[in-house]
Formats: sequence, C-alpha cells, structure tokens
Amino acid sequence: MPERLHDERRRILVVDDEPYIGRIVQLKLEDGPYDVELALDGHSALAVLRSESIIDVILLDIMMPQISGLDVLAELRQLPHRRLTPVIMLTGKGQETDRAQAAALGATDFLTKPFSPKKLLARIDELFLS
Ligand SMILES: [Mg+2]
Repeated sequence: MPERLHDERRRILVVDDEPYIGRIVQLKLEDGPYDVELALDGHSALAVLRSESIIDVILLDIMMPQISGLDVLAELRQLPHRRLTPVIMLTGKGQETDRAQAAALGATDFLTKPFSPKKLLARIDELFLS
C-alpha cells in the first residue's frame, strides 16, 4: 500500500448518486484540508476502493440504484486495506433498519439527509482528532 506523506491533505471518497450532493460536499471539504474524489454509483466506488489509492474517509449514500450503500459497505469491509477506514453513511429520514444494518456491517457514523456541509466537515475533523 502506498505510504502517505506526513502533511499531505486527507483524501475523502464521496459516493452519492445525486451529483449535486457530491459537488456541494466537495466544495465544502476542499475549502478545508481535504481532497475529494466523487463516485456516482456503487460500481465506480468499488473500483476505487479495490485499487491501492489512498482513501482516508468514505462518505457513502445508502439509497443508490443497482448497488446500494449497504452492499458497497459489506464488500469494502472484505478488502483487507479498507477494513478500518472510517465510513460515514448518508441516510434518509426513517431509515432506522438501514442504520442498524449498516452499524452491523461496520459503519463508523451516520448523517441524516438533508445535512449541513458544515456539520459534515465537523464530523470528519472529529475523526482525525480522536
Ligand atoms: Mg441516493
């Protein structure tokens, strides 16, 4: 696995089938100390995750066509180099069952849509403080 340089910006993979959500998140995070890679579906997300590219945090929408966020989560936790990567799930209101399932599959945290980009940035900052 490639080694990160000490003061490199952290890399966030944002997976959401709604392009504008990815864009808003990207603008906010790249204003902070993060670089964002966008994936619009589960297939491209898994392609990135199977590769050796450095990903420090994954932001993962649950509701996506074909391959859901839960499927992506289950599969990425099988990859030895992604086993411990923090994953923040994006859920809709009233998706409590999905939340429980995601927690069981190894999700790190949850954000309910619609969320404020500021709150998201705070959550990600927290991951690196603890
Ligand atoms: Mg969605």
